[in-house]
Amino acid sequence: SEPAETIKRIDRESVHRICSGQVVLSLGTAVKELVENSLDAGATNIDVRLKDHGTELIEVSDNGGGVDEENFEGLTLKHYTSKIQDFSDLIHVETFGFRGEALSSLCALSDVTISTCHKSAKVGTRLVFDHNGKITQKAPYPRQQGTTVSVQHLFHTLPVRHKEFQRNIRKEYAKMVQILQAYCIISKGVRINCTNQVGQGKKSPVVSTAGGPNLKENIGAVFGKKQLQSLVPFVQLPPNEAVCEEYGLKSTDLPEKLYSKEMFAKMEIIGQFNLGFIIAKLNSDLFIIDQHATDEKYNFEMLQQHTVLQGQKLIVPQNLNLTAVNETVLIENLEIFRKNGFDFVINENAPVTQRVKLISLPTSKNWTFGPQDIDELIFMLSDCPGVMCRPSRVRQMFASRACRKSVMIGTALSVQEMRKLVTHMGEIEHPWNCPHGRPTMRHIASLDLI
Ligand code: ADP
Ligand code: MG
Repeated sequence: SEPAETIKRIDRESVHRICSGQVVLSLGTAVKELVENSLDAGATNIDVRLKDHGTELIEVSDNGGGVDEENFEGLTLKHYTSKIQDFSDLIHVETFGFRGEALSSLCALSDVTISTCHKSAKVGTRLVFDHNGKITQKAPYPRQQGTTVSVQHLFHTLPVRHKEFQRNIRKEYAKMVQILQAYCIISKGVRINCTNQVGQGKKSPVVSTAGGPNLKENIGAVFGKKQLQSLVPFVQLPPNEAVCEEYGLKSTDLPEKLYSKEMFAKMEIIGQFNLGFIIAKLNSDLFIIDQHATDEKYNFEMLQQHTVLQGQKLIVPQNLNLTAVNETVLIENLEIFRKNGFDFVINENAPVTQRVKLISLPTSKNWTFGPQDIDELIFMLSDCPGVMCRPSRVRQMFASRACRKSVMIGTALSVQEMRKLVTHMGEIEHPWNCPHGRPTMRHIASLDLI
């Protein structure tokens, strides 16, 4: 063969594989593309079946419209889509996909089999594809209306990528679950169920929704009822009418709609109740305030705003294996990482994806932090670049520190101490709920009405 240093064109098949690896970047994108196709096909029931966390098999089955026989050949060809025909259609796209790249890329990267039964067909068909997206086997296959796409051995056609994929499978899997959860939440009226089977073991549930009619039910199904309660400070904020309606709340239920923060400075302290609550009065309205919850929220917000976490230097700088995009997000938000105790050395001359090395991690007695917290920050910062934020585990740490610092239930308070707690409520961002979501204050009665 020719010497290696001769510049030659890469053969077409390899080019297609390499480019496909840029469409389907990860397990998460593979699952996302398949689920989107099912949603686009009008499915109300989607089953995602994984074997060995998706390295062995990813299979997405739906009860959507199915694929018509005349579209079999086009299914997996690059830039073939049923969703747009010319440029003007782009304006009216109402589906997730329209580039016609996902299935063609999956064929290039794995072994793809599709079984489908179109709504107008009497019997289903099973199709096997080669890596160029050509049909190699086609046979009648009994099944109900809908489509099942099976992707086996993802990335095995790109050996280096395949090795990376298997090495990083825990991370890939965690990201995929996050993406799937997001689709579960936004897909009202669609039942999504995902299972994973390791080896010959039992199938274990990963995520499932009952196809509820609203976001609240879907969030409940994905995160569990218990977490839902605490998710409701966060979802409630900022509360608009649409969110209220979605959650079955009346806008009058929300304290921030009824009250303003200026009111706290004007409140008159009446006294303490049951060694746990402050009774305060404003004009003719009486309020009861949870002394622990409100102090906890104040301390929490102060920690969130002002704490610069101490970093501990690593003995050996650590490579992070970031994607090019994530690496840029990190470099552009270094200050925020530093405030969270993460520090890096940046080598501008190194190749993209290799420019950043971790040199310092935040430390705290009972908490250890690592690359997953960096990933989370990158995730948040890609949404809101430049906006101060904390990894959720730092928030948790602050919440538990705030709790320990705060006035306990059962502690007698002087009027001055109560005054201070109530004044603090007017000084913070969100005095209405404690960091765990419990309300800090309730209106007891209007004296006018008594
Ligand atoms: P795109 O979604 O961008 O059109 P894809 O490669 O993801 O491209 O899919 C190609 C085509 O295959 C789609 O336009 C659609 O017509 C068909 N298709 C893919 N998945 C399904 C499915 N689950 N049910 C019905 N049709 C499907
Ligand atoms: Mg698609």
